[in-house]
Amino acid sequence: MRRILLCLAVALCVAVGADKKKPVAAAAPPPPPKMDEAYGAKIREYTTEPHFLTELVDHLPASDTVPTPEKVLGYAIGTPNKLTYTKDIYRYMRALAAASKRVKVFTIGHSEEGRETMLVAVSDEANIAKLDHYKQLTAKLADPRKTPPAEAAKIVEEALPMYWASGSIHSPETGSPEMLMELAYRVAVEESPFIQNIRKNSIVMITPATEVDGRDRQVDLYNYRKANPNKVAPSLVYWGKYVAHDNNRDSMGMALALSRIMMSTFLDWRPTVLHDLHESVPFLYVSTGMGPYNAWLDPIVVDEWQKMAYVEIEEMTKRGVPGVWTHGFYDGWAPNYMFYVANGHNSIGRFYETFGGQGADTRERTVPAASTTRTWFRPNPPLPKVKWSLRNNINLQQSGILFSMNNVANNRKQFLENFYIKSRRSIEKAAKEGPAAWVLPGDETRTAEAADLVNLLRAQGIEVHKLNDEAQVGAAKYPAGSYVVRMDQPYSRMADMLLDTQYYNVNDPAPYDDTGWSMGPLRNVKTTRVTDGAILKAPMTMLTDAAKSEGKMNGGTAAAGYLINHNTDNTLATMRFRLKDVKMSAAEESFKAEDRTFNAGTFIIKTDGNPADLRSRLETAAADLGFTAYAVRELPKTPMHEVAVPRVALVHSWLNTQSEGWYRVAFDKLQIPYTYMSDHVLRNTADLRSKFDVIILGPTPGNSQRVVNGMPMIGEPIPWKKSELTPNFGNSPDTTDDMRGGMGLEGLLNVRKFVEAGGLFVTIAANSSIPVDYGLIDGVTIVPSQTLRARGSVMNSVVADKKSPIAYGYGDKLAVYFNQAPLLQVSLTGGFGGGRGGAGAPETGRPTGRGTATDPDVPQGRAFVAPPPARTPVGPGEEPPVEEEMREAMRAYLPPLDQRPRVVLRFSEEKDLLVSGMLAGGRELANKAAVVDVPRGKGHFLLFANNPMWRNGTQGSYFLLFNAMLNYNNLGVGRPAAAPARPATSGTEDY
Ligand SMILES: [Zn+2]
Repeated sequence: MRRILLCLAVALCVAVGADKKKPVAAAAPPPPPKMDEAYGAKIREYTTEPHFLTELVDHLPASDTVPTPEKVLGYAIGTPNKLTYTKDIYRYMRALAAASKRVKVFTIGHSEEGRETMLVAVSDEANIAKLDHYKQLTAKLADPRKTPPAEAAKIVEEALPMYWASGSIHSPETGSPEMLMELAYRVAVEESPFIQNIRKNSIVMITPATEVDGRDRQVDLYNYRKANPNKVAPSLVYWGKYVAHDNNRDSMGMALALSRIMMSTFLDWRPTVLHDLHESVPFLYVSTGMGPYNAWLDPIVVDEWQKMAYVEIEEMTKRGVPGVWTHGFYDGWAPNYMFYVANGHNSIGRFYETFGGQGADTRERTVPAASTTRTWFRPNPPLPKVKWSLRNNINLQQSGILFSMNNVANNRKQFLENFYIKSRRSIEKAAKEGPAAWVLPGDETRTAEAADLVNLLRAQGIEVHKLNDEAQVGAAKYPAGSYVVRMDQPYSRMADMLLDTQYYNVNDPAPYDDTGWSMGPLRNVKTTRVTDGAILKAPMTMLTDAAKSEGKMNGGTAAAGYLINHNTDNTLATMRFRLKDVKMSAAEESFKAEDRTFNAGTFIIKTDGNPADLRSRLETAAADLGFTAYAVRELPKTPMHEVAVPRVALVHSWLNTQSEGWYRVAFDKLQIPYTYMSDHVLRNTADLRSKFDVIILGPTPGNSQRVVNGMPMIGEPIPWKKSELTPNFGNSPDTTDDMRGGMGLEGLLNVRKFVEAGGLFVTIAANSSIPVDYGLIDGVTIVPSQTLRARGSVMNSVVADKKSPIAYGYGDKLAVYFNQAPLLQVSLTGGFGGGRGGAGAPETGRPTGRGTATDPDVPQGRAFVAPPPARTPVGPGEEPPVEEEMREAMRAYLPPLDQRPRVVLRFSEEKDLLVSGMLAGGRELANKAAVVDVPRGKGHFLLFANNPMWRNGTQGSYFLLFNAMLNYNNLGVGRPAAAPARPATSGTEDY
């Protein structure tokens, strides 16, 4: 009782100064609240130390009509060893809503596996009765073009801030869905002035679990672990259908259902704050970050992060809770986090990290030293050793977020005003800091990809217009039909940060995630930053429906065949697989027909030998997928070969499925069929060639030894499959009786046989070390990096071999995603003869002497002999420049011409290398191979240094992979029959 009185005193204290919309009724003291004493006793029992509890959550109010979580679930929140499935969380939330007029639940979407995503609104009953009205008020504040300041001031008097708490987007972070049930009950039922203030002056929104599929799998996994204490439990290898931890790095690409659900719900409500609950570092980290901060945000939101964080830290610290801190932990640079549905849209996105536990155990834990040091931003650091419980985690999360909710309720008007001001300043951006607009010019050749980018912007709530006529802006002309993204709209900042160029100084703190993301270059779609405000005056019409590439059939019916220009629009790959019974050829060279130029790779479809309904099916596909088919009376005379319909396998490891998940995202979206299988199938299938034409080894973290060996063969089998304890594992994309082991040496030998028999084996980024390290190929080495710093950047590359089918449809240059490794070096002898060190080799320059840095060195006392020309990369099939005597010595090692590695794509010269993000030591990456085709027997290995399918954002690179697939049995096309002569220089040369 004494405790409760104390609690009320503090609560009153905190509520003082609230700019309450409706004054709390009478001055008479409220009747003493009824408490659920038994529940309160459990809270205190499950808390390991008094300093991990605050007066906000050390009790639970009782209600005669509204059920506590314990009444519905059978256990109090935070009970050791208990985690709750989403269906039971929803059962509780629905029971709460049925019993209380202060609670309403909404289904806001469904996951890829069909599980519901829920939104719970909690507020005063009068507010809940008028939710739609309050949504309209925030919508008005969100668009100052329609709401002048005087009207906004009136709205601010009446409107309510909405505080949206989202739980467990990261599935092993298990506490928040539990906490949010209790929070919903507490906010709905408790009659302390502190909670009344939150209820009256704000609307609390709760999404108990954002990653619903992963939540249920994690509860399965926890139950399995508890039931099998002596067995090694699997790691949570699948969370959602596609990706694991990266599910909160999808706010730019919007590939996942959860991102789209959160975005569309935000745009429906426009909450003032989105607070995402994470668990990792001790004990309570409140987000602000280390910087560098995202440079496109209004500085006001950066201030709001700080101000809000310090309120919670101060309130918790006052109460003696150790280890509550801010700053540090992450940077605040990339806008790919889920909470950018708020930050990118003039609201406040923030997060917590509390000390989790990946379950519901109570145990002694040693806190990592890195988190327990006292520093300027952590004057009260976490304790080095602690007995920790799920309830501790819940206490800290719930206390912190209640202080924050109370802060927002107290400062209701200020938060709403700021929201309006930020929205207004977004509209003023066009005229103030600029640019005026981004234009996607109407002469874009990749029309389907341009439309796809526009539709992504629209999914972000960004308005996109189309020019009615050609517009002249200064010296530039933009054709009719150009897309215009105006910067005088409320969500201009999100559009600008997605389309702009990023520069990350390497002297800044190490980045937490990718440093570059420019969408135009990565999608290979032209985007133009227009600073001249005249663009905004050009007549234009806002898109009200999805943008679409207009596809059609061009030409008469008496056709010998049809031509579809290869422009690397990814829907052309869809077309090929959709019309799988249609015979198609690829033009091996560019040609002219119908008064226009067709690129190498153009699809040539003869009438003769194809189904009778060819024309109508092409017509349907053209309209649907947005390409033009040209009916021609005469077929071009260009050399051509058949375009395959390959049987494709995408291979995952049981170590981790995350990065290959982005490949499934891309393939599924484009309806490209594939077999999804683990690397155990490589190990266990002697004749892979009879089953597959193309095998893509999906990217897996770890060095080649780890990936090849997989999870060590220690102890008993580790199953990942449906069982009584793990009912939700059955929906996983793949299952197994034993996760241990990888492809092993058997798998590698099977892969070698597969390639020698004509298959194509593809490796991505760091995994390209596997064929190199295990000697499956020759002529390619990986050089260690000494100085390169290129963390998740956008790099320029040049098409080095335009005749390779892998380059079909591409121009001269392509921006690609590259993350630090590998540095692929191609040398004919595979390193024999001391191939140049490449990366790390010191910049030799010229000897110290007379003249400038570029002048030749002139020894004295003899005639000057000019040095050989500077080395340049060697073209396809060219003889590497090797001195005669060296050539003689290496003859035994030089492969025949048709078996030599072929560099299809090469990173640009150093001065052209960086598009966006971080780059230092670029000399190591400059001119290195980005995509190498290595023949072996009848087939090929294909090594990517870049990652062509990353987070639904690298659409410009997709067709490198699709071209390789569709031409897997003709990859030798375009290779010169004989090596052209080349002047010799010295040393082994990469080419
Ligand atoms: Zn997390």
